[in-house]
Amino acid sequence: MIGDPIAHSLSPRIHNAGFAAAGLDWAYVAFRVPAGRGAEAVAAMRTLGIAGMSVTMPHKEAVAAACDRLTPIAAALGAVNCIALEGDEVVGDNTDGGGCCWALDQAGANLDGAPVVVLGAGGAARSVVAALGARGAEVTVVARRPDAARRAAALSPSGRVGTPAAVRGAAVVINATPVGMAQHPGMPCDPQRLHSGQLVMDLIYHPERTPWLDAAATRGALTLNGVGMLLGQALAQFERWTGVGAPVDAMAAALDQHLGWLPG
Ligand code: NAP
Repeated sequence: MIGDPIAHSLSPRIHNAGFAAAGLDWAYVAFRVPAGRGAEAVAAMRTLGIAGMSVTMPHKEAVAAACDRLTPIAAALGAVNCIALEGDEVVGDNTDGGGCCWALDQAGANLDGAPVVVLGAGGAARSVVAALGARGAEVTVVARRPDAARRAAALSPSGRVGTPAAVRGAAVVINATPVGMAQHPGMPCDPQRLHSGQLVMDLIYHPERTPWLDAAATRGALTLNGVGMLLGQALAQFERWTGVGAPVDAMAAALDQHLGWLPG
């Protein structure tokens, strides 16, 4: 895995638990690679014959440009979070949005035709909008920069740009902004718009419960934090690299102190 910062990443814990449970003599290691050197890390991976690599901030776009081939979702996003060495070819993929849908599936959401509001239009929002669109959800993007919101909405066949008022009519509301993290205090939308019958998801997993998620639960909504997405995107990466089914229970157990991702 490459990124910066990276020291507190949970991914080594998740993947190494998966390798052990699957009986694979593999190891997953985090490397702090500063901005601007992602392409060099891809070259090193090719030289060393490393089977795969997770890619996180600030390298997702630069590494996409350094790949030999991109999956359709990675090409649409222009960003990769996962690369695999397939023969001599470095293939870039993006499993973030699929991981979010996996977590929503676990919570019992029926995404096909569901009205979903995504708050934010950055990298995570874009991958989530694209994946939700592929699952048939009716996605509305609500973000403070209209141009970014338009570009994100365009990633979904039925995507549109909306205002915070759209939150009230959504079956699923997803916070894809950093608002609620320690460095970004506040709420991504007025919790008065949230109500029972909705599934409210925060992509943030540190802290495990944001004030917004707590407010949503108080108002009767089913709530979900970002740990399920973290796990879901890791499962897809594991399967792409190893070609075997991911041992979900073992990988989830590696996150047992973060089990707030379960619906609550
Ligand atoms: P990003 O690319 O920087 O995008 C952040 C988005 O939030 C942008 O649309 C930004 O708007 C908006 N935003 C930031 N501050 C805001 C504020 N005060 N009010 C309204 N909007 C604001 O970040 P990202 O990579 O998409 O990450 C977003 C969140 O998702 C982070 O909390 C990250 O930890 C989380 N995440 C979770 C997972 C997971 O597996 N659970 C995976 C990836 C990301 P501007 O463009 O106008 O600044």
